[in-house]
Amino acid sequence: MTALKSVTSKKLYMGRLKHGADLLEEITGACRKENIKLGRVEAIGAVKRARLGYYDQKTREYKFFTIDRPAEITSLIGNVSIKDGEPMVHAHVTLADDDGKAYGGHLAPETEVFACEIIIEALEGPAFNRQFDKETGLPLWDM
Ligand code: ZN
Repeated sequence: MTALKSVTSKKLYMGRLKHGADLLEEITGACRKENIKLGRVEAIGAVKRARLGYYDQKTREYKFFTIDRPAEITSLIGNVSIKDGEPMVHAHVTLADDDGKAYGGHLAPETEVFACEIIIEALEGPAFNRQFDKETGLPLWDM
């Protein structure tokens, strides 16, 4: 059954990420610095290289792959919630190469920022805590 909780918009943050930074770590660090425990994230820009994940539903493990060349971030979309008591950013990205071909997946550490413009929306509402989900093997929101 679909479970929803009501949240409201609290504040918007806009910024530019540091050249050479780790994309996922930099977004997570910004959320921790501003004490954002619930929110959503969007960004556009470019990366020098990327590491993405694909969750294999049979083996219940992430298969990670590297795109070892510059690419555009045509879309990054994600959310902020709590895992193990700390804010955690879960983001997916679509990247495009010099032919406009797209790659996508679960954003993993070791994705290096070339330039990135980000908007974070802090939300107010009940806590969204990630707990191990038996059906999927993933740390999903405990609803
Ligand atoms: Zn994911």
